[in-house]
Amino acid sequence: MPNIKLLQPTSLDEALSHLSAKSDETKIISGGTALVIMLKNRLIAPATLLSLAGLQELRGIRHEPGIGLRIGALATIREAETSLVIRERQPILAQTFGKVGNIRVRHAATVGGNLSEADYASDPPCVLVALRARAKARSARAEREIPLMDFFKGFYETALAPDEILTELIVPDALPETRAAYVKYVSRSSEDRPCVGMAAVVENQADGSCKSLRLVAGAVAETPQEIASAEALAGGKRLTDTVIDEIADAYSSAIEPLSDLRGSAWYRKQIIRVMARRAMQQALDGH
Ligand SMILES: Cc1cc2nc3c(=O)[nH]c(=O)nc-3n(C[C@H](O)[C@H](O)[C@H](O)COP(=O)(O)OP(=O)(O)OC[C@H]3O[C@@H](n4cnc5c(N)ncnc54)[C@H](O)[C@@H]3O)c2cc1C
Repeated sequence: MPNIKLLQPTSLDEALSHLSAKSDETKIISGGTALVIMLKNRLIAPATLLSLAGLQELRGIRHEPGIGLRIGALATIREAETSLVIRERQPILAQTFGKVGNIRVRHAATVGGNLSEADYASDPPCVLVALRARAKARSARAEREIPLMDFFKGFYETALAPDEILTELIVPDALPETRAAYVKYVSRSSEDRPCVGMAAVVENQADGSCKSLRLVAGAVAETPQEIASAEALAGGKRLTDTVIDEIADAYSSAIEPLSDLRGSAWYRKQIIRVMARRAMQQALDGH
């Protein structure tokens, strides 16, 4: 690797001030699990690496009443997977983090790095879209919140500006009658990225009928996919096996998946139907 300057700021303001002056020649590094591979393969050649590792203010995981879960961008995926507060408030999220790669990757990789990398074949993004999470971004200019639905723009592309750092992930509290599940289908090794990931979040009414359904597919297109016309089929109905089949069929018919080494578009369509059905059933069964 060519000579690269490494900056190790100890405060967010220091990091942002460097980024505001030199964002064109700087790459942010958090856990480095994705970035080091890009460097080694000479896909990027930044003059400077800006390490976020010393920014303690981006590390915490807590719950704030009225806001929800607040997960610092620098929390590792393993910390998020094992966090008691995430397990208690949003078990689906802890389970999803536990499905990322292998334990060595999860110990080093960060929540913020996973989202900022925006690899389409990742696990957390579709779940976070289904939970209507928001990303908090800071620059020397301002701070803003970006709904995760608008965060992913394309292959390895996010809504973050070059001088912005993703600082925090906010996951709003679920209503009491909400059930959720994430199912991951891998077509190669068990530690691989998903061929298809599917998140289902079901909000029920007191009488057991469905108030709203969010069904979001990951790893099947450039960005997480939600098919509103299929989700709408759940409105006001009890999610019986017949209704679930109807929704899964409509979802798989409407979606236009990509082809890659993990599966062709045709293959993915078949898997999407099965995963949509499984995600809804698992959400309702509560496992
Ligand atoms: C063997 C292996 C298996 C994997 N399997 C899976 C899997 O099954 N599922 C899955 O979802 N993922 C998987 N991954 C991907 C892994 O989750 C990501 O590599 C990781 O989450 C990236 O986090 P990081 O902290 O290491 O980011 P880094 O490598 O440090 O950075 C990644 C990118 O994000 C930018 N960045 C980092 N932090 C920030 C920030 N706070 N603000 C703005 N930009 C930032 C960097 O500039 C860089 O472009 C796998 C990776 C490996 C190596």
